[in-house]
This record gives sequence, structure tokens and C-alpha cells, in this order.
Amino acid sequence: VIEDSQIEMVRPESFREFVSSVAAGSHADVRLVLGASPSGARVASPVRIVRAATDGPTLFVMSGVHGDEAGGPLGLRLFMDELGDRLTAGTLIACFVANVPAFEHRARCSLWDATDLVRVWPGRPDGTVTEQIANGLATVVRENAEALVDLHCGTPALAENWVLYANSRSPIDTIDEAVETRSLDLAKAFGADQIIRGHPWLTTVSAFGSLGVPTILAEIGGGPDWYANHESYLTQMSQGLSGVLAHLGMANPPSIPRSAGDQFDIAQELIAGQVDGLWQPVVRPGDQVTVGQEVGAFVNPATGHRSLVIAQAEGTVMNPMCTWPHVEPRQWLAAVGVRA
Ligand SMILES: [Zn+2]
Repeated sequence: VIEDSQIEMVRPESFREFVSSVAAGSHADVRLVLGASPSGARVASPVRIVRAATDGPTLFVMSGVHGDEAGGPLGLRLFMDELGDRLTAGTLIACFVANVPAFEHRARCSLWDATDLVRVWPGRPDGTVTEQIANGLATVVRENAEALVDLHCGTPALAENWVLYANSRSPIDTIDEAVETRSLDLAKAFGADQIIRGHPWLTTVSAFGSLGVPTILAEIGGGPDWYANHESYLTQMSQGLSGVLAHLGMANPPSIPRSAGDQFDIAQELIAGQVDGLWQPVVRPGDQVTVGQEVGAFVNPATGHRSLVIAQAEGTVMNPMCTWPHVEPRQWLAAVGVRA
């Protein structure tokens, strides 16, 4: 057990210098100081730096951007435990809990500012605590990393299995072709049921892709079957990261390569309006739907009335899907995708 007081605190501006001080063939655990709480306490993320004996690219992996998604930190932990001395070239930087306040609050966003970290990249040094965290991580990634993986999973309501990558179909269209190609290669190397190209949200891939860093965001597992299937979700995350390392020439290929997954653009998002009963989907991820087809319904338990949720696009039901019947207003229910 390492006492917290023995672990060095490093600020984003001096992180690059610290990484170069880690001897080849060794590793270091640090706390990356990213901001301050409203009372002035230090907000610092636990980070491990692993340097191979030989030079090579630097891969930055972060999890815990959303504090209520336990799968990412557990998947990254499993990967690091399984890594052993398999890193043959380059530097791996693992940030286990990127958003410490949200993690401590067991919520998607820090309760101190109710701000979503994936929507405020690259943040502001003098902003709210979440904007400070965004600014610090963006500084470290931009100055150190040749590739970025952001690990997420579904909440208790949402089952997921897909990878987003930086590309010009996402809301920021300033991503250059080389970054897009390298990001798609990372997505294929990670492997998931579905690879998503066009998606209508500002998120980690658009933000860091536009900063010139090839980036993927993986959403693996979650939902009510977590306890039945968490081992396979965590294994998938660990294997995915092994695939990325091998693709970057930082480790030998994993013994069990994953299939890359099919590529899609999002044609329609189905999002709950005012809650009206209990959500019951009638389709499953991977099913084909046509325009006008029922995707699911809100069932009023008192009257039995079913308020139908209808597909407005033809395509494949995507995999995140809301799989728990209690739905909050504006909750994502499902999406229809078309093959890219
Ligand atoms: Zn997330």
C-alpha cells in the first residue's frame, strides 16, 4: 500500500517534464493536480506512468470522466493489472479517475458546478472546477499524447457497446484527414459491436480530434445486466486497450483479437420527453426498424395505456439502449443508425 502522502503532486504545466524524469523500463504513480474545490481543497487525479525500455509513442488513457460510470475505472484497473511488463515501446499514461469530484459525488457531473466534463473541453484555467479539470487534462494530453482513449460505460439504465472516433461528421468539422484516419484505426483496433462516425454531440473525440490528437471514446457495458456480465465488459475493455497498444506498436498483439465492429452514422436519436409511465422497449440493439415502426412504449401502470415511441428513420437499432423502465425526463432511449 502506498501512502497518499508519499505520492508526488504534479501540475499539468510540469507533467511533461515529470514524464521524462521517469526512467525507461520503470513506472511512477502521481497525483495530477487539476483544480480546486469550492473550499480550496486540491482536486488531484490518480495517474500511473509506465515507460517501456524502448522509445515509442505516448498513449493517454482516461476513465471516470463521468462519476457514475464505474465500468471505465474498473476496466482500466484490470488492464493495468494484466499489463505486467508487456509494454515493449513508448509510454502509457493511465488516468484512473479523470473527474474526481463527480466520482466522489457518484454522479455524472460534479455537484459543485453541475457541469458535464465531456461538453466543456478544453475548459478554462479560471473556470468552474469542471472547467479547470478540462483545461488541465487538455493541457496534459495535448503536450504529451500521440493518441487518446476515453473509457465510458452506461449508467444503471443504459446498456452500451460502441466506440466513437474523431471525424469530420461530428459537430466540430475542423478535424483533419490524418487525425480522422488514425482515429478510425484506433477504433477498429479497440473493437466494439458498433463504431459510430456521425453523432450529434460535442464530446471528447471532437474536442481532442480538433486539437490534433487521434482520439476514441469507448462505451462498454452498463445497464441492469451489469452484475451478470461485468466480467465480460471489463475483459472487453482490457482487450480493447491491448489491441490499441499493439496497433501503436507499443506491445505484442493480444492473443484474442476482437472484431472491429460495423460502422454507423446516427440517423435518429430517441429521447424521452415528459415521463409518462414505465419504458418498455420492443426492439433490441442490432434489430432493423422502418419508419413508423414502434421502438417501445411508455406503459401507464394504472390504466395500461401505451404511449408509443416511433422510429422516424429506417436503419439499425444502436447499442446504447435504455434497458431499465424508470426513465428520467430527457433520458436517451435508443437510436437508429445507418451503415456508414
Ligand atoms: Zn460517460
